[in-house]
Formats: sequence, C-alpha cells, structure tokens
Amino acid sequence: MNDSHVILVGAGPGDPDLLTIKALKAIQSADAILYDALISEEILAMIPDNCKRFNVGKRCGAHKMSQAEINEFLYKMSLRHQCVVRLKGGDPFIFGRGGEELEYLQERNVETTVVPGITAAAGCAASCNIPLTHRGYGNSLLLHSGHSSAGEFDPTHTDKSKQTQVFYMGMNQAESISRYLIEQGHQPDTEVAVICQGTRKNQASQLGTLATLPAMAEEMKHLTPGLIILGSVVGLATHQQQKLLLEQERLSA
Ligand code: SAH
Repeated sequence: MNDSHVILVGAGPGDPDLLTIKALKAIQSADAILYDALISEEILAMIPDNCKRFNVGKRCGAHKMSQAEINEFLYKMSLRHQCVVRLKGGDPFIFGRGGEELEYLQERNVETTVVPGITAAAGCAASCNIPLTHRGYGNSLLLHSGHSSAGEFDPTHTDKSKQTQVFYMGMNQAESISRYLIEQGHQPDTEVAVICQGTRKNQASQLGTLATLPAMAEEMKHLTPGLIILGSVVGLATHQQQKLLLEQERLSA
C-alpha cells in the first residue's frame, strides 16, 4: 500500500458558503485536485496556487472523460501525490459516482476518505423555503435518478429492491420497521446498517440484515441519536469490512 491519501469531497450545490469547513481544509491541503463540471468558479478560486488542478468534468452530451478514465486517472494521481482531492458537486455519494470511485481506489489499496457535501435536494429546497420533510405534510423522502446510464428515464429506477431507505428517529421502532418491511416483501437478508453518533468521535455502527435489525437497535439504543440505512448499497460497506478483517487476520497470523 502506498502512503498517499485520496479524499472524495462534496462541494455542495454551488454557493461557496455552503462548502463545509472540512471540505475547505481538504482543498487547502491538497497536492492535486480533480474536479467536475458542477464546481463553481468561487470554489475553484479557493484552490491553492501550488496545487495541481484537473478538470475531469463531464457535461451531458459532451463527455470529456469517461468514468473509467476518471477512476484510472484518480488512481494514477494517488501514486504521484500525497494528498489528492476528488472534488464533486453536492454530496459524493448521492448520484455522484463517489461509490464507484471509492470501490476502485479501495480495490487498489489506496486510503480513501469521504467528506460529505450538501446535496442539491437540500440546497435547492432550502433556497426556495421548501421543507423536504414537515410534520403533517411529508414524512419520507425519495431521491431518484431521472436518467439511466444511456440517458433515458429508466422506470426500473423506481424498483423498490434497488432503493436505499434511511430511517431517522427509528431506533425505538426498529422491531416494527423490520416486521413491516418483511411483510411488504423485503427479503429478511436485505443489508442494514445502524449508525449511532454518526461522524462524531464516539461513532458506533453495526452492519447486519433486516432480520437482525431489532437486535442491533436494541444493543445500540443507549448510543442515540441513531440512523438506520437499508438496501443493497450497505453490502458495499460489509464487503469492505470483511476485507479489512481478513487483512487484519493475515497481518496478525
Ligand atoms: N452529487 C450531486 C448530484 C450529481 S447529479 C449532489 O449531491 O447534488 C447532477 C444533478 O444534480 C444535476 O443534473 C441536477 O439535477 C442536480 N444539481 C446539482 N447541483 C444543482 C444545483 N446547484 N441546482 C439545481 N440542481 C442541481
């Protein structure tokens, strides 16, 4: 493993004041930055002069670099530079292909961390005074991709088995949530993550399934606030955790 580090950074929806302090620190400490087309000029102006910058942006209909080329370029940069920032619009993990880049880098043993950003839904709604949830009006929120990789609207994007579901304020109701979703046809082995005190120093998380959700939540409910994430995307973290455990076992053998 080389000792370089890649940070996938969410730059928010455009207003430079919506950049997080952590994102700003990452930008300021980068030796190289790869940014996409959604990054505003004001944010680009924050990149230090001595930092190498690469526009790998893609605009609909005028592809500059394919995702495969970006992955490869990102990896190459990580071999050449100590700290590489991949600056992406909004949040890297919400329709941002951050998951694909993370997997690609992890498969090559490049240390990679993620700085979340304000996603377009949150930014645009706030700027129009639209509360995305509101007691009595809206109690769940679905974020859809309006186009497939071929560009058209793909109705299977509304397929429930491919939806990620996130439950806020659900720790004490985990048993009912699990039972209801299984009754609704979700497979009991659907991957679930329970994350308490998320992003804080005392973060605790458990990965399991819809069937083990009640037990996980029971075990962790003294650590609230907690969030429940359900869907096959959780399996990507499980896979990575298994790889880490195997690596630790190999090193300690
Ligand atoms: N990762 C990004 C989304 C990338 S997909 C995020 O979390 O926001 C690109 C789409 O995001 C655009 O086609 C548009 O639908 C939306 N988007 C991103 N920034 C936006 C903005 N400032 N205003 C309106 N829509 C925006």
